Amino acid sequence: MNAIGVDVGGTKIAAGVVTPEGEILEEVRYPTPHSPGTLIDNIFKAIKEVGDGHEVGGTCLAVPGFVLAHENRVVFSPNLHAVEGIPLKGELEPKIGLPLTIENDANAAAWGEFRFGAGSEVDHLVFVTLGTGIGGGVITHGVLMRGAQGSGGELGHVTIQATGPRCACGNHGCLEALASGTAIGRRARELAIETPDSALGRLATKRQILGEDVTELAREGDGVALSVLEESGRWLGVGLAGFVNIFNPEVVAVGGGAMEAGELILEAARKEVVLRARSPSRDLAEVKVATLGPKSGLLGAAALARDASSSGEYLLGA
Ligand SMILES: [Zn+2]
Repeated sequence: MNAIGVDVGGTKIAAGVVTPEGEILEEVRYPTPHSPGTLIDNIFKAIKEVGDGHEVGGTCLAVPGFVLAHENRVVFSPNLHAVEGIPLKGELEPKIGLPLTIENDANAAAWGEFRFGAGSEVDHLVFVTLGTGIGGGVITHGVLMRGAQGSGGELGHVTIQATGPRCACGNHGCLEALASGTAIGRRARELAIETPDSALGRLATKRQILGEDVTELAREGDGVALSVLEESGRWLGVGLAGFVNIFNPEVVAVGGGAMEAGELILEAARKEVVLRARSPSRDLAEVKVATLGPKSGLLGAAALARDASSSGEYLLGA
């Protein structure tokens, strides 16, 4: 049975009808409004429009933030406050007439990579997404780890440096505060001031430096930009080493927008994993770039919707 996956991001809502094999038959996009009422309206419109003319068994919303599964709502979403507290299932399910589940966006993306991407050959996967923030998802013995309330797997908010930079969540020194795209941009702006003769320093005199600028300049050979990505990779590796020790995964897949930098970040991360993780977990874990790109959330959400409607095993709040 086909299912609808909806990826609710900070700037856009992507909804797609997906086959059990992971093929997207149809996809629509709507902007993400930052007021609760219009947000619900646009999610509804996206589901209605994409599902029109298709036979569909269920739908799942992948949403950013800490999810309280039993109440099918997001309690805290630092990058999309409009979604906080809305009874998403209660508001949307009667209107769309399909079973609806809610999942954290990174958990859904992890499930997408597990079913169709970098983790499709294994049973034990750790997925980390590097974007504006850092999200994560853990699959052990083929089951998505959610924890007691559905808020588990928040790998971006593990503390890496107790006195480190402030994180969007309010803590200091989270992995997200040290290795996300936002952190890369911030560190690059600091170093641009210290090294005005670097390509990074010259760009900083014209406009604000963003995370993607750093990747571009690093690829062009700017040493300072390269050092920013390496530093971010080292912090990422400190986090991944901990995850390798805790979860003993076969694959650690890293996705998200910052993975445009690929090996410029991952090489440094792997070195830290080798230094810090312990055998035998260290020897098994393969750290690699996720393969589904920005589609992982939508694909994973659709797969979760289908798994929920067919077996009940993943049905939240049931
Ligand atoms: Zn945090």
